[in-house]
Amino acid sequence: MSDFKIGCHLSTSKGFLHMAKEIISLGGNTFQFFTRNPRGGSAKAIDEADVKAFHEYAKEHGIEVILAHAPYTLNACSADENTRNFARETFADDLVRMEYFPGNLYNFHPGSHVSQGVEVGTDYIVEMLNAVLKPEQTTTVLLETMAGKGSEIGRSFEEIKAIIDRVELSEHLGVCLDTCHVYDGEYDIVNDLDGVLEEFDRIIGLDRLKAIHLNDSKNPFGSHKDRHEKIGEGSIGVEAFERIINHPKLKHLPFYLETPNELDGYAKEIELLKGLRK
Ligand code: FE
Ligand code: FE
Ligand code: ZN
Repeated sequence: MSDFKIGCHLSTSKGFLHMAKEIISLGGNTFQFFTRNPRGGSAKAIDEADVKAFHEYAKEHGIEVILAHAPYTLNACSADENTRNFARETFADDLVRMEYFPGNLYNFHPGSHVSQGVEVGTDYIVEMLNAVLKPEQTTTVLLETMAGKGSEIGRSFEEIKAIIDRVELSEHLGVCLDTCHVYDGEYDIVNDLDGVLEEFDRIIGLDRLKAIHLNDSKNPFGSHKDRHEKIGEGSIGVEAFERIINHPKLKHLPFYLETPNELDGYAKEIELLKGLRK
């Protein structure tokens, strides 16, 4: 059981030590957090004493990995130049801050091309990644699989692969698979998990897969809506999650809940999933 890396999204407002203690109290051993206000804006200065206390606590309590999430407003492929510049500056700043936590993960939404088309959007995303990734960084940057809502890029494995292929320092790139998003995006992880993973492996390569967002979906298969639901209360269902967390090709990965819950709800879901883990 201790090899099961499970956690949830936590509020970052009280610092890193606080999040570490919180996830342990919820029964987990890893967590996701926003690097700054999810709607964007400036990040709080790094508190070095908090970082030091976090590392000590994490080591004592078996927290081996953490996952940062870029703000939702970060859109590397916006039609607006100011928005693209904000994305690049925020991303670069986040990567500098991530080096206080060497060897961890930083996830972002590839972006929405609005009406420019997937090709132009992809060009902008590649341009940003080529500008911000550094050879010496220890952080792995994850492209999140998206539901395909509106003009989101990253709905298909091919779209993600097209980005990775054109990034010079692609050894620093990986993928975070969101169960709600891929199910909304017409990948049938309920009835054909093996088939979806084979497709992922053929197109992107399973060695790129570094984290899983565990969310049920409020909507049916292929709906492209991106509305997360509590585990077992949506269209994906508990049995599919049991297969996902125990799948031999996935079970070593860290799993993160982003379900509509307060802390007590997260604790219950973590307990449920630990009970399903073989
Ligand atoms: Fe996300
Ligand atoms: Fe997600
Ligand atoms: Zn989502």
